[in-house]
Amino acid sequence: RTPVRLDSTEDGDSGNWPRQNSLSLKEWDIPYGDLKMLEKIGQGRFGTVHRAMWHGSVAVKLLKEDYLADEQMLEVFKAEVANFKKTRHENLVLFMGACMNPPYLAIVTSLCKGNTLYTHIHSRREKFVINKTTLIAQQITQGMGYLHARGIIHKDLRTKNIFLENGKVIITDFGLFSSTKLLYCDKGLGVPLGWLCYLAPELMRCLMPCKPTGEILPFSAASDVYSFGTVWYELLCGEFPFKSQPPESIIWQVGRGMKQTLANLQTSRDVKDILMLCWHYTVDDRPDFPKLLTLFERLPKKRLARSPSHPIQLSRSAEA
Ligand code: ATP
Repeated sequence: RTPVRLDSTEDGDSGNWPRQNSLSLKEWDIPYGDLKMLEKIGQGRFGTVHRAMWHGSVAVKLLKEDYLADEQMLEVFKAEVANFKKTRHENLVLFMGACMNPPYLAIVTSLCKGNTLYTHIHSRREKFVINKTTLIAQQITQGMGYLHARGIIHKDLRTKNIFLENGKVIITDFGLFSSTKLLYCDKGLGVPLGWLCYLAPELMRCLMPCKPTGEILPFSAASDVYSFGTVWYELLCGEFPFKSQPPESIIWQVGRGMKQTLANLQTSRDVKDILMLCWHYTVDDRPDFPKLLTLFERLPKKRLARSPSHPIQLSRSAEA
């Protein structure tokens, strides 16, 4: 990572720090006082998310106070903000700026209006038909392919961080994971519910029961692809892999290269193959996102059932 400092003066004093980065980061600095904070939308590991007004409705992710005490974490946060400003893609949440002056550290993005895929799949128990599932997956691969092309690893790709707005996919929370520490308490490593099944074997094998010294996991583009595999599984099955199994068992199985069985999944071979490719134990054997996009584009489209009571639909499908 290139360290980024914000507080260097414009007329020099940049020392070892890239002056250009310091200046361009300032352009994205939003004074906390300029935000009109409204209701809290939710709470996550990193902090709280609020709706706010700043030239219209925005989402403000206010980071936990832990960050303020740790100089190194603060630098990581700033480096991540420098990354965010490079992102412009229709399937990625719009980064609008950040509050970078302690005591307020916050990321300001566009406000997503739809629900997350997690809500659709796990809370509302909605079932998507395969054509819709494929369209969603294609949009995720496009957004992720763009992120990787920009050198950004998501590190926390999961259905809770993917919104669906009128059929359009919006990916959020990219690159933030390294700003947070794994949660260790007296009892050992705290594992957030539904998080483990997104972790690639090479990451799983780095999890320690006690707090290690260097605790950042070795995330990579390939570990994002593994996480995407789990999203694809949720879209197809409506549940998490290794459902209801204790964390120790999931860590042991995945770390040794075992996968969720697909025996009960009623779908085509091609669809299952994509899943197995993403979940490949060997990092180099996982496809990248452009390759995945091609695989999705090649999937045969399932024909819509024709109903005599819907002549419009019938004539449309006849045109196709
Ligand atoms: P974790 O911290 O473990 O990733 P999480 O994803 O629930 O859990 P946050 O990402 O902090 O936590 O999000 C908290 C809440 O805010 C969630 O309900 C999330 O859907 C919502 N949220 C986050 N970003 C936005 C956004 N840009 N627009 C609308 N809602 C958002």
